Amino acid sequence: MKTIILHGGASHRSELSKILEKYAKEAIEENSALDAVVKAVVLMEDDPEFNAGTGSNMRLDGSIQMDAAVMIPGDFGGVINIEEVKNPVLVARDVMLKSPHMLLAGDGAVNFARKMGYPTYDPSTEKARERREKVLQKLKSGEIPEYYHPQFFREFLGDTVGAVARFDGEFAAAVSTGGTSLTLRGRVGDSPIIGSGIYCGSRGAVVATGIGEEIMRRMLSIRIYERIGEAPLQKICREEIEKFGSIPVGVIAITAEEECAMSNLAMPYAQVTR
Ligand code: ASP
Repeated sequence: MKTIILHGGASHRSELSKILEKYAKEAIEENSALDAVVKAVVLMEDDPEFNAGTGSNMRLDGSIQMDAAVMIPGDFGGVINIEEVKNPVLVARDVMLKSPHMLLAGDGAVNFARKMGYPTYDPSTEKARERREKVLQKLKSGEIPEYYHPQFFREFLGDTVGAVARFDGEFAAAVSTGGTSLTLRGRVGDSPIIGSGIYCGSRGAVVATGIGEEIMRRMLSIRIYERIGEAPLQKICREEIEKFGSIPVGVIAITAEEECAMSNLAMPYAQVTR
């Protein structure tokens, strides 16, 4: 039996769940849990609606830096602040499977991607440009608080993508993001940090979305994972999300017997079993 869960980001339009269901149905046809979560994330990275791959948020300076990661029990691969590639999640998978490393950052990640055969690609979209422009205007006019104010992150969060899967007891997780808009160049969120935005082990897989700084502070994914078996999965996720108060956060999680997609604000998601 195979099950996959996809999410399209905390604070994103829940109507997008329909599109995610289509992607989940396509991804579940893959032969392994890892291939399925990677396929699901590629589909979302290629859809400019989401803040990952094409359609990624721009940094304050107008550049696009993306983070992505994949994890299976006992292994992990991730890229941090990668630029000018179409599918960061594919590079993350190559880091895990084809390099001796677990994480590559910045120009090292870009060089590795080129060596692996990924050509230069511009992931920017008109929507991302408009979004950045709007934020800069609001900042200038004083309509939104100064850059480091927590409300700033809340207002401009969003649309990161992730997937977890269980294929006959085999687990995998994948995540990809353009980061919160707008942030400083070089900022790293929770997504590519093991135990924060992603975790996968022999008991299940967890992926988080929301304000990366807060998720890292609480190491949300490993916290949920470590509690597997202690109570129903829904209860564990609810309790961990409640600890965030009004700070936007969402998770998808899967164990040997349970599944959960939960957030404290709108989050599109889809779950498919076959
Ligand atoms: N967690 C992501 C980050 O902070 C953003 C998101 O989930 O939308 O980079």
